[in-house]
Amino acid sequence: MAEKVLTARFEKLGSHRLESYERDHGYKALKQALSMKPEEVVELVKASGLRGRGGAGFPAGVKWGFVPKESEQPKYLCVNADEGEPGTFKDRYIMVLDPHAVIEGSIIACYAFGAHAAYIYVRGEFKKPQRRMESALLEARRAGYLGKNILGSGFDVDIWVHPGAGSYICGEETALIESNEGKRGMPRLKPPFPAIVGLFGGPTVVNNVETLAYVPHVINRGPEWFIGLGSEKNGGTKLFGVSGHVKKPGLYELPMGTPLREIIYAVCGGIRGDKKLKAVIPGGSSTPVLKPDQIDVNMDFDSLAGIGSMFGSGGIIVMDETTCMVRAAARLAKFYAHESCGQCTPCREGTPWIAKILSRIEGGHGREGDLELILDICDNIQGNTVCPAGDACAMPVRAFILQFRTEFEEHIEKKKCPIGRFPAPW
Ligand code: SF4
Repeated sequence: MAEKVLTARFEKLGSHRLESYERDHGYKALKQALSMKPEEVVELVKASGLRGRGGAGFPAGVKWGFVPKESEQPKYLCVNADEGEPGTFKDRYIMVLDPHAVIEGSIIACYAFGAHAAYIYVRGEFKKPQRRMESALLEARRAGYLGKNILGSGFDVDIWVHPGAGSYICGEETALIESNEGKRGMPRLKPPFPAIVGLFGGPTVVNNVETLAYVPHVINRGPEWFIGLGSEKNGGTKLFGVSGHVKKPGLYELPMGTPLREIIYAVCGGIRGDKKLKAVIPGGSSTPVLKPDQIDVNMDFDSLAGIGSMFGSGGIIVMDETTCMVRAAARLAKFYAHESCGQCTPCREGTPWIAKILSRIEGGHGREGDLELILDICDNIQGNTVCPAGDACAMPVRAFILQFRTEFEEHIEKKKCPIGRFPAPW
């Protein structure tokens, strides 16, 4: 049985309360971090290789190390709790069931790179996580973990919750910063990167909830322990949200590198109704879809990149043989078209165009050359936009067509869905 780390406290009564967290050695890592020099904390987290759990997989310690020590501008931590990627549902559970782990990790991060203020940017729809984080912050403040001279260390820090308004693009770090400043959430051109010019113009680190919740464990138990849970470049465990056509969908904590086949068949009980597996989106909707003969891949950043997909956020969407691939691709494109902030032309114009063509193919009105047209639009979007949201539409749509081209062609030739699906009403 794999070791549980982030979810170990989830089933305890009152796991969200400070009393319960302290009983399980909560805030011990903070005390240890405060007894070290900030740069030692950064080095320890770097040595663990802890990679960002939000999607990009960038090492957290390296990110902290980018913040210029000599900067006279106030520095900030933004906790990315937006979690808007379809198929992803993990951070909300951490915030509801173990909010103090996020707070402790955030305080340690602030101490490590010299920030005195942090904002937890929570998705607008996440009312319960917002409330849980607010009351946990109140408890932490009362106990002296936040505020002036925390635990007599001479270090001041405070953390606030900033609710968003429910926009997908605010999960992108620079759009999150804009929204956190009270502006419309539109991504910024990079460079300058947030580590140099971020929130209110100050050096800023944006870390995901799951990443920060891991920090106290890394401090308490050391980098070797963390690496030992997975592999050298993909250490630790990971929260996988499995949805779709499996018998036991849900949130599972498993070692990094667990084979996808094992997750689908051993952990989630296989395909519902014992049907055949048709496709798997491995890491949230923006990651390229896989076919059944590709599921012997290890679920980690490098292994998935090696077969042309992405690990992303760990949101696995499983589709059985009754799923229409054209409809799945069309639904996905419609989502990205709706969420485009409109700032750059390829994304603003290209994503609704793709959605429109896919929708007409699904409805039996596809034309010869439509697939080439979509692939051409994808090529014109990818790499030509301000933020990765354009790629997030182009990459999976291209993968759907390349992996399931025959099904797309059959829709166009037969002017209907070959597996008997009626066109979706949207
Ligand atoms: Fe906005 Fe799309 Fe451009 Fe990102 S890629 S900045 S979401 S228009």
